[in-house]
Amino acid sequence: MNRLLSLLLALLVPLAAHAQDGGVRKPVTLLISIDGFRADYLCRGITPNLSRLAAGGAHGKLRPSFPTKTFPNHYAIVTGKRPDNNGIVGNNMIDPRRAGVKFSLGEPKQSLDPFWWDEAEPAWVTAGKAGVRSATMFWPGSEVAIDEARPADWLRYDEHVGYAQRVNTILDWMRRPADIRPAFVTLYFEAVDSAGHEFGPDSAEVNAAIAEVDAHIGELVAGLAKLGQPVQMIVVADHGMRAIDASRVIQLADLIDLPSIIAVETGPYAAIEPAAATDNRVHDALLKPHEHMRCNRREELPKRLHYSQNPRVAAIICIAEPGWTILAGSPTWPVRGGAHGYDNQDPQMLALFIASGTGLKGDVGIVDNIEVYPLLMSLLGVTPLASDAAGVLISRAAPPSRGSTRPGR
Ligand code: AMP
Ligand code: ZN
Ligand code: ZN
Repeated sequence: MNRLLSLLLALLVPLAAHAQDGGVRKPVTLLISIDGFRADYLCRGITPNLSRLAAGGAHGKLRPSFPTKTFPNHYAIVTGKRPDNNGIVGNNMIDPRRAGVKFSLGEPKQSLDPFWWDEAEPAWVTAGKAGVRSATMFWPGSEVAIDEARPADWLRYDEHVGYAQRVNTILDWMRRPADIRPAFVTLYFEAVDSAGHEFGPDSAEVNAAIAEVDAHIGELVAGLAKLGQPVQMIVVADHGMRAIDASRVIQLADLIDLPSIIAVETGPYAAIEPAAATDNRVHDALLKPHEHMRCNRREELPKRLHYSQNPRVAAIICIAEPGWTILAGSPTWPVRGGAHGYDNQDPQMLALFIASGTGLKGDVGIVDNIEVYPLLMSLLGVTPLASDAAGVLISRAAPPSRGSTRPGR
């Protein structure tokens, strides 16, 4: 009798879910970020799942926005605006309108304050206003009430949440009844970036992290298929990774006495404010030519960097020659392993791009990461806001199944 009952239930439960959907599941748009997954990692022959997605859809190389850091680029991807216009100009930044405090990615008091994020509206907020439900399994900015809105489901970032748990959370969301099931989902993995910093991009540890993340993406794809859930998937990285070592260091203390400067950021690039606005010695010392770095007043940076308008961009920006590290005094971290933050023309800063089930096919070449935004909005069927993107990805995609719109400018 019990067996008969469970047999009956096994038959009826999927039927009930099916009926709730009106018979057909709408595709979910899934945006996955593998932090620090350099574009060429895909050629290492250790990513069966990602390689399958790339072969069946499209792949390319994303050119990050400058600075090639995590927060500015994650926000560029979901807003279509470069850091100068999206307001997240660094992992660390200061703002003259909020004197005496510093935004830092690890300091929630500032990093979760909408003040820093309100200069642009991310995809999930715009989607929410259009009645499209979002759920984020981590994404910078997703924990913040931007324009007073968060994704319908979101979680406080915690690197200790295991990858199987992240994948299962998404699968659980997709098991929900149609009316509370998300149509836009993000997923974030940090392991490839962490191993890249600690051991360098050519290490066995990076390869192990790549294989680990690939396996979890495989589980997610299989889980969605088992649910009969169609998916439009975009897999991105925020930047690449480059080997660094202690023999290639530029010490700012050799150029200027450190109390004369505020170093908002150091490493592959440095963001510097003179401690006293009237102190011309800082400009004289830094703006002259150096062997392995170039410093500019922010308004004199090359135009192609699009990094000069926002008051959060520091007065002087120094960019190290790729592989070199700028320090202000003794480092707070060992100079070894890998780093990113260099000029976005550095080929080793190029990041992963894969699109599957999106209408895009083949090799799309090198594309600015702001171009992901119009593609994303088109897949969601939501009118994108004005952005810095030209729409080069959507112009190449076959029309998606649900209504599509061209980007505003
Ligand atoms: P980066 O210093 O640019 O390499 O930043 C990478 C780090 O950003 C990762 O190791 C994560 O720990 C951290 N991170 C990623 N997403 C978030 C988030 N939503 N909130 C706080 N930290 C994050
Ligand atoms: Zn990153
Ligand atoms: Zn990193």
